[in-house]
Amino acid sequence: MNKREELYSKINADIRAQKPRMAICYDFDKTLSPDDMQTFTLIPSFGIDKDEFWGSSNKLAKDNLMDNNLAWMHELIRYSEFKSKSLKREYFRETGADIKLYRGVKTWFKRMNDYAEKKGIELEHYIISSGLKEIIEGSEIAANFKRIYASTYLYSADGVAKWPAQAINYTNKTQFIFCIAKGFLEEYDERVNDSMPEEKLRIPYENIVYIGDSATDIPCMRLVKSKGGYSIGVFDPVKDNRSKVYQLFNDGRLSFYAPADYSSNSEISKFMKQIIDEISAKESIKTECKILKQPAEAFKMKKSIEDISKAYPGKMSAKEKRELNSLTEALESVIPGNIE
Ligand SMILES: [Mg+2]
Repeated sequence: MNKREELYSKINADIRAQKPRMAICYDFDKTLSPDDMQTFTLIPSFGIDKDEFWGSSNKLAKDNLMDNNLAWMHELIRYSEFKSKSLKREYFRETGADIKLYRGVKTWFKRMNDYAEKKGIELEHYIISSGLKEIIEGSEIAANFKRIYASTYLYSADGVAKWPAQAINYTNKTQFIFCIAKGFLEEYDERVNDSMPEEKLRIPYENIVYIGDSATDIPCMRLVKSKGGYSIGVFDPVKDNRSKVYQLFNDGRLSFYAPADYSSNSEISKFMKQIIDEISAKESIKTECKILKQPAEAFKMKKSIEDISKAYPGKMSAKEKRELNSLTEALESVIPGNIE
C-alpha cells in the first residue's frame, strides 16, 4: 500500500466507524397507553368522573374558542382550587406511576435498541405529547426517552402549578421533529429555525419514525413521511376501532398501521424491524458514497485550480503560479490511482 492509499484507508475506517442514528418519536395517550394520562389517578382524585371532566373542559374550549390543551390545563387548576388541593409537580409525577401501558411497551425499547445495535444503528426514543410532561416523567418507561416534549405548567416557588408554560398540539408538535433532526434539543433553542443541509443533520429525516393514534398526530405524520421517514398509526387492540387508521392510510399519512401491541411477535415489532433493516441498508450505501466522494472531491479541486491557472495566465505573477502549482501537487499527492 502506498502513502496515498494508506491515508485513504485511515479516512475510510473513520467514516465506517461513524454510527448512523435513528429516532422513534411517540405520541403518548392512546399510542403507548390505553387512555388519557390524566384519567388514571389525577381526575378521580378530585372525586369527579372522567367523562364529566373532559365534557366541561371541551365545552370551555368550544365556548371560548380556546385550545383544548389550554382548556384542560385551566380546568385542572380550577378543580384543584375548588377542592382546596394544590397541584404540585411531585403529585403529577406520583400519578405517572399509575399509568397503564399497552402490552409489550415496557420491554419494547430494549428489544428495539438491541435489534438496531445489531444492524449498526444507534436508536433514540422521544415523546412528543399533548399530555403533561411531569406525569410522563413519573411513568415507569420515562428513562427510555432521550427527551420528553409535552405540555407543562409554570410552577410557583413552592412547586404549585400556576399557568401553562407549554401547550403542545397539532402543528406545534412538528417543531420538535426539527429539534430532533437538527440536534437542538432544548425547547427554547431558536437555532431550530436555521436552515441546515441534509448531511449536517444529527438525525436525517429519513431516519425518523413517528407513531401516533389521532388527528393531533397528523401534522407530524405528514411531515415525517413527506421528508422520507416513516409514520405508523396505531389503534386499541381490544376496541379494535380501525376507522381512523384506515382513513389516515387512505389519505397517505401513514407508512404502516398496526394494533398498539408492542410485544415481541406483534405486527408493529415486525414493521419496526423492517424499517431498521431499510435504514441500515440505506446508511451502508451512504457510507460507501461518502468514501468514494473523498478522492473525487480532491480531483475536482485540482481540476478547478488548473482551470484558474489556464484562464488567467497573463494576470498571474510567477510567485502566484508557483503557489498554485504547489497546491495542485499537494492535491495530486492525496489522490490515489492514475489521473493523467
Ligand atoms: Mg394520542
